[in-house]
Amino acid sequence: MGTIATAINRLKEELPSNVKLVAVSKFHPAEAVMEAYDAGQRVFGESRPQEFHAKAVALPGDISWHFIGHLQTNKLKLVLPYTAMVESVDSVHLLEAIDRWGRANGKITEVLLEMHIASETTKQGFSREEILTVAGNASDYAGVRISGLMGMATFTDDETVVRRDFSQLVSLRDEIRSSLSDYPGLPEDFGILSFGMTHDYRIAVEMGADIVRIGTLIFGERNY
Ligand SMILES: *Cc1c(COP(=O)(O)O)cnc(C)c1O
Repeated sequence: MGTIATAINRLKEELPSNVKLVAVSKFHPAEAVMEAYDAGQRVFGESRPQEFHAKAVALPGDISWHFIGHLQTNKLKLVLPYTAMVESVDSVHLLEAIDRWGRANGKITEVLLEMHIASETTKQGFSREEILTVAGNASDYAGVRISGLMGMATFTDDETVVRRDFSQLVSLRDEIRSSLSDYPGLPEDFGILSFGMTHDYRIAVEMGADIVRIGTLIFGERNY
């Protein structure tokens, strides 16, 4: 068995059955995706619109494609027709553009709001206050389904820092869920949490992640 299939099988054994694995295939060729596919993997994540589009149109139609990168509004057409979920909505401007596209094209896109939880200021995302505002206005966006939150922890080996970052997602999700009637535009099952990558997914699973996004552990190092 190839190394990709081996990694997929190990992860399937390790992850609780209620945790969804997004295999992050960015910068890896279609053949690598197909090795994971042949091992049974059906959910993949991509972070660049062109690459996302090229893979989505060429690879099997039963793949569920998650978009996980920074999405510029002039690239929506490459992504939205093919995506099962945009995990990385990081601005009101983007949310409004996805909403408009959805209304115009009759497709409601499932999205997560990306929260800025890391110490690095280079990482994208909303603050807690901004997310509460967006959640309060959710009924304005009939072209999207806001189903939860996504985040990326500080890149560090210090578990205390990683846990502190992740706990911001968990507590904000719990806070919104406990007063869901204040957010009438959110779906009743609001609260999907996507956090955890190759170096911190075990902590994420322990802390209650619903989705983990794992690239390097499955596909090896990326050549940028
Ligand atoms: C690249 C990427 C991942 C996967 O990272 P690995 O460390 O390779 O597992 C997960 N989430 C996002 C948003 C990414 O851009």
